[in-house]
Amino acid sequence: MSVFEKRYDAVIVGGRVAGASTALMLARAGCKVLLVDRQLYGSDRLSTHALMRGAVSMLAEWGVLPALMAEGTPAVRQTSFIYEGDRTTFDIQPDSRTDCLVAPRRTVLDRHLVDAARRAGAEIRHATMLQDLVFDRSGRVIGCVIDNGDGTRQTVGAGIVIGADGRQSSVARLAGARIYREGKAASGAVYGYFEGLPDNGFEWYFADGFTAGAIPTNHGQHCILATLPAHRFAEVFRGDIRAGFERICAANSPALAEAVAGARLCERLKGFGGQPGYFRQSFGKGWALVGDAGYFKDPATAHGITDAFRDAFLLAQAIGGAPGGLAGYQTLRDELSNDLFEITEEIAAFNWDMADLQTLHLRLSKAMRAESEAIDSLLGVSRLAA
Ligand SMILES: Cc1cc2nc3c(=O)[nH]c(=O)nc-3n(C[C@H](O)[C@H](O)[C@H](O)COP(=O)(O)OP(=O)(O)OC[C@H]3O[C@@H](n4cnc5c(N)ncnc54)[C@H](O)[C@@H]3O)c2cc1C
Repeated sequence: MSVFEKRYDAVIVGGRVAGASTALMLARAGCKVLLVDRQLYGSDRLSTHALMRGAVSMLAEWGVLPALMAEGTPAVRQTSFIYEGDRTTFDIQPDSRTDCLVAPRRTVLDRHLVDAARRAGAEIRHATMLQDLVFDRSGRVIGCVIDNGDGTRQTVGAGIVIGADGRQSSVARLAGARIYREGKAASGAVYGYFEGLPDNGFEWYFADGFTAGAIPTNHGQHCILATLPAHRFAEVFRGDIRAGFERICAANSPALAEAVAGARLCERLKGFGGQPGYFRQSFGKGWALVGDAGYFKDPATAHGITDAFRDAFLLAQAIGGAPGGLAGYQTLRDELSNDLFEITEEIAAFNWDMADLQTLHLRLSKAMRAESEAIDSLLGVSRLAA
């Protein structure tokens, strides 16, 4: 008799951008999917959530973009880089799927992804936590133990257990997944949501040792972001986080600092002390990792969500029978990530002057274009049913 109370083709741990998008694609392909997340439906996540073109293309492809726009997510039609006060603005060029970028709050984005996965047939359980993996005698993962959050536990069978459970991934720990490439650089960040700022699209500010960003998002608010090398986080923010935040805004642009001072802070400021990037072994017998669980880079290039969507797509393809299987998934992920990882490392190191930084941004733009083209071509060769 089976030890399992229920069986699924895939159990996905983590119901955010990586987990919910993987669930959506697998469920649409006809897999029986269980998605669990220990947090609540519609809760927030530490992120400034600016989406690059590849992410917006995938949201359009999955049919999730219209729901985000209907919930008041502003269309971003230009992006500006401001180097010590010197501004260059680019218009967002339309393509076949979208004519804008977006930065939906995670309370909005993650909820709509989960809703789409549920509509596609995935079973979704929040306030539910992975406790353990179940292995057979050969070492293959064949299921997992979940804590239902009401004092009960359940042991379920799974064709594959997927860890989409972020940087502190429990699936990675329980499966013994090792990190095989690590970055050195890390930036720290403090950000907050402000009401009453003009919408100028994405604005990225750069000064000596500090950067800042203005990101229009839902509810008529802007996410204002102040960053610095992680090793300076404690010194600049100790004692008075708001004063440190204002100091970084002012160092980047007195006009930004003045606008922020006149705007209403809608929630308390949030902080991230920084963590170097890594690539982690992302597959084994009966398990896989996706999103930050398998590959993380510093937020300096605002690319984690875009890459999480891309890798969810690659993983779903591998599970659906793409050549190379799970090993091919990891190899392709790493190949597609290499340039951006290296550029992110250099930007997050803060070891640049404005001329160096502009060169890095040109390289970044090229790498992003290559990634966006790769995503377009991947979408064109989907092996999974729409
Ligand atoms: C300060 C900051 C700013 C950022 N800004 C941007 C940006 O502007 N643009 C961008 O693209 N990216 C940005 N990123 C990166 C982006 O937020 C991440 O890449 C993205 O959140 C990764 O998504 P994920 O689904 O892999 O994991 P996560 O969002 O980390 O979600 C993991 C989920 O797993 C759940 N979980 C964990 N363990 C368990 C368990 N045992 N059982 C059940 N559930 C579990 C957690 O509750 C969580 O909901 C930023 C990151 C930071 C830190």
